[in-house]
Amino acid sequence: MIIVLRPDATKKQIDHIIEKVKKLGLKSMVSQGIERTIIGVIGEEDLLRVQPLEAYPGVEKVMSILKPYKLVSREFKKENSIVDTDGVKIGGKKIVVMAGPCSVENLEGLRKIGRAVKASGALILRGGAFKPRSSPYSFQGLGEEGLRYLNEVKKDTGLKIVTEVMDTRDVELVEKYADMLQVGARNMQNFNLLKEVGLSKKPVLLKRGISSTIKEFLMSAEYVLSNGNFNCVLCERGIRTFEDSTRFTLDLNAVPLIKSLSHLPVIVDPSHGTGKWDLVGAMSRAAIAAGADGLIVEVHPNPEDAYSDGAQSLLPEKFDAMMKELAPVAKAVGREL
Ligand code: PEP
Ligand code: MN
Repeated sequence: MIIVLRPDATKKQIDHIIEKVKKLGLKSMVSQGIERTIIGVIGEEDLLRVQPLEAYPGVEKVMSILKPYKLVSREFKKENSIVDTDGVKIGGKKIVVMAGPCSVENLEGLRKIGRAVKASGALILRGGAFKPRSSPYSFQGLGEEGLRYLNEVKKDTGLKIVTEVMDTRDVELVEKYADMLQVGARNMQNFNLLKEVGLSKKPVLLKRGISSTIKEFLMSAEYVLSNGNFNCVLCERGIRTFEDSTRFTLDLNAVPLIKSLSHLPVIVDPSHGTGKWDLVGAMSRAAIAAGADGLIVEVHPNPEDAYSDGAQSLLPEKFDAMMKELAPVAKAVGREL
């Protein structure tokens, strides 16, 4: 349920309503829009229905949100949300590019990649220290050592850090080093993990599950927001279909669709979405044209020897060339790179 306040509602009136909602044992979230303030109420809505809330001073109207996701919906917040990642704003005019290796492998290699992607215009360094691998015999990541390397390269380059957290037990550790917590596709419906990152002060990058519908994706984001963390960026990274010529099928429909349903920023991962480095450029251009707020791209100086996902990793010089090609596309859709 949402309580839409009158434009002239005072802070005292708003606090009074919040207090009332709390007394009923419900949770309220305030969304301060440009024109209006809205109070989202979550929990047992029937408790509110018996209250004559419309009669409260400052209240314009009370509405039910019919969609199962509430706080992530456009009904709750009309304006686009901007997620601040240690100063890098995602969801505004600027397209934010995150780039780096699939896995953090060693400090020198990471430094080299960090410097290269920074010079090409990336603002955030990606790299997994905890890797979700299909085989338990594959490289599982360097763990805390990898997080330290990411931090070293942050100091060196000024790039912000996004890295995956796979387990509720590691959230405290990962948030010490990361500027943004990545929840991977395989964990999109790990509800305990979603609750835990929802309690974090760090922004969350939530990747779409490989077999998840848009509705399920948005419900997972609802877990993050309903635990208090509104700094959530959604990432379309491809889904499983019958098509096996590419690793996944990059569902670019998701970009304009999610942007119509939700106020949260949406970015695209063309590396996992295709599984092929030579398709990454075209799908990056398409993603920006479709309205994505950013990209997350895998880059490796020696893809043949990468510990993971070499086939979809761009050489730094290819990444640089791609970035140059993206700028006019961004401009054509009223954005900048
Ligand atoms: C990754 O970003 O390297 C990764 C494992 O992504 P996903 O969870 O989308 O497969
Ligand atoms: Mn990868």
